[in-house]
Amino acid sequence: MAGIYIHLPFCFSFCLYCDFYSEIDCREQRRRYLNALKFEISERVDYFAGVLPDTIYMGGGTPSLLDTEEIVELADILRNRFKITHLREFTLEANPDDVTPRKLDGWRRAGVDRLSIGVQSFCDDHLVWMRRRHTSAQAINAFKMAREAGFDNISLDLIFGFEGLSDEQWSNNIAQLTDLFPEHVSCYQMSIEPGSELAALANSGRYHEPSQEVCSAHYSLLQQMLKKAGYRQYEISNFAIPGRESIHNSSYWERIPYLGLGASAHSFDGHNCRCLNLADMKDYIDAMEGNVSIAIRSEEILSEDDKFNEQIMLGLRKTAGLPLSSLDSSRLATIKPALDYLTSTGDIISENGFIRIPAEKLFVSDGIMQQLFI
Ligand code: SF4
Repeated sequence: MAGIYIHLPFCFSFCLYCDFYSEIDCREQRRRYLNALKFEISERVDYFAGVLPDTIYMGGGTPSLLDTEEIVELADILRNRFKITHLREFTLEANPDDVTPRKLDGWRRAGVDRLSIGVQSFCDDHLVWMRRRHTSAQAINAFKMAREAGFDNISLDLIFGFEGLSDEQWSNNIAQLTDLFPEHVSCYQMSIEPGSELAALANSGRYHEPSQEVCSAHYSLLQQMLKKAGYRQYEISNFAIPGRESIHNSSYWERIPYLGLGASAHSFDGHNCRCLNLADMKDYIDAMEGNVSIAIRSEEILSEDDKFNEQIMLGLRKTAGLPLSSLDSSRLATIKPALDYLTSTGDIISENGFIRIPAEKLFVSDGIMQQLFI
């Protein structure tokens, strides 16, 4: 198994909370960027050393903003260059205001079989505050159009954990989402990311994060309501109808190799090497046009301790947990006292050769995992 991620860093405007690498869309720059991507694809075609990639994920930015012919062309190039014969999943991230029957048809022609739609909220006041460009009605309509176009694997995103979100509004958001009944739900707590507009508001005292008690209660309500609606939580922020978990995203937590193409994209060789493309569109394009792509890539070789910590950090994000047999035995012996303590407090459950964090403790999982790092 292996996955390909393509970063398409174009947006019409920036959302209040966002720190993903992206630029305001400009057709000329987009054309040069797509050519640069084609160069990077041809250059890194041997990345998987014989393994055929079986998932593609187009993320951003706003991939849905591209012309469908651009998506079709990119998909064809990926298939041909990586000799992909059998794709298990091809996801495209879409903003509700970009979704039209014509685009949906184009994405299907490209082979996209899974859409991840950024709804974020069903409350229009909150959408305006977040600087989202769509309304709640547009999000619902986008979902219905995608269904009519034949998409039977759709993920919807929601955000919680921001000032002003009442219990009632949050409960209503989850209820509206479950009424639509997408196959998959991703839900993230809003955080103040350096460089975002939200950070500027917070720094000037015009935004205050809600208390952890409120956020924890909203997370717990999400878990309860989604469970009742038939979803299974399989990761801290991800829920799915059983069998519809994201194959591509699961590869990140299972340390399966993936190749990230484009500015700011990450790659992992499945062993000990992670690399990162610089988050700068101009430098990325210049490097590809000048045939010096290495200039925009930094590499990190993981030590055995790093690898162990990463296995803990990624494996315990999953509700299925982490097989103890996958961990280095001498390092496992080193953390045994901490593991025994966390098991005694109920922060970790150890059974059938796996360790995992129980659902009711996932909200504080960072603190639990840290106690197990070397
Ligand atoms: S959240 Fe998505 S649409 Fe909004 S600025 Fe970030 S990448 Fe662009």
